[in-house]
Amino acid sequence: MDWIAIDGSQGEGGGQILRSALTLSLLTGRPVHLFNIRARRSKPGLRPQHLAAVRAARRISNARVEGDEIGSRELRFRPGAVQPGRYHFDIGTAGSTSLVLQTVFLPLTRAGKRSQVTIIGGTHVPKSPCFHFLAWNWLTVLHTLGFDAIIEMDRAGFFPRGGGQIRATISPSKHIAPLVWLSRGRLLQVRGLSAAANLPEHVARRQRQRAVARLGARYPLNDIRKAALPAMGKGSVMLLLAECEHGRGCHFALGAPGKPAEVVADEATEAMTEFLESDGCVDRFLADQLLLPLALAEGESRFRTERVTRHLLTNAAVLNAFGLAQVDIRGELGAPAEVRVQPQTL
Ligand code: ATP
Repeated sequence: MDWIAIDGSQGEGGGQILRSALTLSLLTGRPVHLFNIRARRSKPGLRPQHLAAVRAARRISNARVEGDEIGSRELRFRPGAVQPGRYHFDIGTAGSTSLVLQTVFLPLTRAGKRSQVTIIGGTHVPKSPCFHFLAWNWLTVLHTLGFDAIIEMDRAGFFPRGGGQIRATISPSKHIAPLVWLSRGRLLQVRGLSAAANLPEHVARRQRQRAVARLGARYPLNDIRKAALPAMGKGSVMLLLAECEHGRGCHFALGAPGKPAEVVADEATEAMTEFLESDGCVDRFLADQLLLPLALAEGESRFRTERVTRHLLTNAAVLNAFGLAQVDIRGELGAPAEVRVQPQTL
C-alpha cells in the first residue's frame, strides 16, 4: 500500500499529529511517513511519551519502524495486523499514560478479541487529559456510542515524579453509533472530584470548598467528592464535569508547588464557567479527542463544540489525509462551532 506522508509541523505542530497518524495507520493498515515531528515545540522530535506511543503501536501490530529514538524528527511506520493481547507499556517518565492509551485504544477495539493494557507514567500531568477526564468524560461518551472498555487507575502519577499506573480492558465493538449533539438541552448537574496525593488533608478540602463556593449559587452541584489518591509523588487535581441532556463538559486544574489550593479550584471553575456560558455540547478538549472514534461510526456525526482549537483543526487535517472520514468544521478558531464527521468507506 502507498505511504501516507504527514508533515508534523502543520497546525498545532505537536505530539498529537504523531499519535493520530499512528492510530490511523493501525486502523487503515496504511504505512505512514512522518517528518518535522513536533517541529513547533521547544524540544522537537520524539520525547519519551511519544516514543512510548510509537513502541506501543509497533508492539500491538508487529510494525516495521525506522526512526524510533528520542529526538527523532522523522519516522517510518509500516503496521502489520493488530493483535489482541495483554500489553504492558512503561513510559519511564511522567509522560501522559492517557495519550499512550488513546493511541492504541481504537485499533484494539477492532482486533476481534479482548485486550488488557497496562501503562506506567503520568496520570495527571499538564496539557493532557488526566485519568479522571478519560474515565468521566471521554470513555463515558465512547460507551454511549457503543465502545466497550473499562479503565482503572491503580496509582496516580503526578508531574514530575510519574510512576502512576492505569489499566484498560478493551473489548471488541462492531457497531458504533454516530453522535448528534447540536443543542445541549437542560443542565442536569455539575459533579466533581477534588483529590490529592501525599499532601495534607486540607488541600483537597480547600479545593472543594472553593469550587462549591464559586459555582454552588449558580449551578446545580451534586456530589463534589473529596479523595486521597495513592501515588508515589505529591500532587492534586480539581475536576468538574457538567452533564446536560445532550452534552457534557469537563475541565480540571492541577496543583503545583507554591500554588494555593484556592487557585487550583479557581482555574477549574473558570474553565467550567466558560463552558457553561457557551452553547457547546462538548468541551474544547473532548472535541478533538472525539474525531477519530467518530470516524468509526455507522453514519455522520454532528456536534457543537465549546470552542474551535488548533488541536481540533490539526486533528481534522490528519484524519482527512488518511481518508477514513471527512471532517468539516463550521466556525472560526477560538469560537464555538458545529463539527461534522462523515466516515468514508476506504
Ligand atoms: P507536545 O507535542 O505539545 O509536547 P503532546 O504530545 O502532549 O504535546 P499535544 O499535541 O499537545 O500533545 O496533544 C495534547 C492532547 O491532550 C490533545 O488531545 C488535547 O485535547 C489534550 N488535552 C490537553 N489539555 C487538556 C485538558 N486540560 N483536558 C483534557 N484534555 C487535554
